[in-house]
Order: sequence, then C-alpha cells, then structure tokens
Amino acid sequence: MEEKGAENGVAAMAACYQGFDPAAYLQYNYTPPRADFERKDSIVPWHACIEHSLKVRRRGDGSCDVSGELLVDIGLGPTLYQVMSGCEVFNKVLLTDFLEVNRQELRRWLQDEGGCSLDWTPFLQHVCKLEGRRPSAWTEKAAKLRRVIMDIVPIDVHCPQPLALDALPSAGADCLVSCFCLESVSPDLAAFTRALGHIGRLLRPGGHLLLIGALGESYYFGGPGVKIPVVPLNEAQVCASLKESGYTLIRLEVYTLPQDMRVGVDDVSGEFFVQYILYLREGFNVQV
Ligand code: SAM
Repeated sequence: MEEKGAENGVAAMAACYQGFDPAAYLQYNYTPPRADFERKDSIVPWHACIEHSLKVRRRGDGSCDVSGELLVDIGLGPTLYQVMSGCEVFNKVLLTDFLEVNRQELRRWLQDEGGCSLDWTPFLQHVCKLEGRRPSAWTEKAAKLRRVIMDIVPIDVHCPQPLALDALPSAGADCLVSCFCLESVSPDLAAFTRALGHIGRLLRPGGHLLLIGALGESYYFGGPGVKIPVVPLNEAQVCASLKESGYTLIRLEVYTLPQDMRVGVDDVSGEFFVQYILYLREGFNVQV
C-alpha cells in the first residue's frame, strides 16, 4: 500500500515535468537580477563562486580538494554553469537529465550550431575571472568544456539504478554535482532521501557529492503556468537525509536570497544551501 502511494507520488511529479519549458526556465532563473555578475549578492554568481572554491581549490602540494577522472552532473536541466569549473579538474564530464527537451537544449550548445535559448558567455567569463584568468579566456574554456563532455544521457533519480548500466565505469564517478534537482523532483522527504541513496550508488567509495538546493521552497515555475511542487526542506532535514544515505558532511553554507531576487517564479524563503559531502561506504577510510 505504502509502496503504491510512493509510486503514485513519483508518477505525479513526472507528469508535472511534461510542461517544463527550458527557454522560460532559463529566462526566469539565469538572467538578471538572479544572474547579475556585477552584483556580489546575486544568486547565480554565488553558485559559480561556491563551485569554483570547492572544485578548484588547490592544496599547498598542488593537489586539488576535489578532482579525478569523471564528474557527473545529476539533473542538469537546460543549464551549464555547474560544470564550468569542474571541466578544469576532471578529464571527463557526463551530463544527465530526465527530459529530452533539456538534453536537446544542451546538445545545441555542445554542437555549437546556434539556436541556444541562453548565451552562456557571461557565465564562462565569470568563471574565468574566478580562476584568475582573463575574461577573454572564455573561448578556451568553452572549447575545453565541449571536449571533456562525454555525453548527455537520461536519468531518473527515483530508480534504484538511475542511469543505464553502461553509462558509467564500474568503479563509479569520482564526483557528483546536483543543483536544485532532488527536492524539486521528489513528492516528499522520504522520496528525497531515497533519491540521495540512489545517486550515491553512482559514486565511487570516497567520492564527493556537491549538492546545491533550495530551502523552504514549496513550488517553482518550470514555464508559463507550469507550477511544479517542491519538498520544502530545512537544513536539519537535509543533513539527516544525507546521513541516513551514508554521506558525511564536510561543508555547509547557506545563502540568503535578497528581497529583489524574489521575482515570483518560486517561493524560496530566502535560503539556499550548498553541501560538500564525502560519501563513505563501510570499511572504507578516507582522510578529510
Ligand atoms: N540543475 C538545473 C539548475 O540548476 O537549474 C535544473 C534544476 S530543475 C529545478 C530540476 C531538473 O530535474 C529538471 O531539469 C528536470 O528535468 C529534472 N528532473 C525531473 N524529474 C527527474 C527525475 N526523476 N530524475 C532526475 N532528474 C529529474
């Protein structure tokens, strides 16, 4: 009975996503004021900054805090900002999303044939600046990104095996990034926690999970009139779900959304978080 209820909840969420409009979603969330690179308190530059500080922070011996062979983004949507720093420290990047319309949007950028709904140049320039490079280096970064992205494949975080079996090497990914996905595709907290467990199976022991998400959000618009429910989370619930799924917290940061960025496309209560997690499997010791 309980299982049937969970299945129905997941199916209802999938139905909500049928109206998702990549161009509108990008317009709502990835243009000013939310993506204003002149403002330090703008939300998208904050994401980029966090990602950069996590992935490209170098230790004294020249090694990287988070690096490896394979980076996988979970539920990338029609966006690219999440992997702009990571492409410098991982040799391969795999992009995933549930919807073909989003995968198509990204393929258009990857093939560089025009027709993209958003110009990613300011984002690339911003990340170059964070990396201490001149903004004009963005063309090199775009070329690098296109080189390291292996594929854009379907995913369903509600399946115990979220990706096709041959999508990843058997050892798993070195790092997973997921932004605003799990809480906005899960019908409730239990499904969110299960999804965290499912994606954990894609990660190698000791691999990193970098999660950015919304706090206290109950809906967002995925297009005109497409109101998508979100599990309203608080920090304690997120930490408990991660712990239950076998993750160890390394770093947690909270961002308060300025009043003028509450632009009516969601009801985020003003806090976003980022988690920096090391996933540990039994019997595996990692020095943090
Ligand atoms: N990561 C992007 C960002 O930062 O803007 C997009 C986040 S959007 C709020 C949620 C994404 O989850 C959409 O791209 C949607 O296609 C994807 N999605 C929906 N159902 C999913 C599922 N069952 N498994 C994985 N992703 C799903």
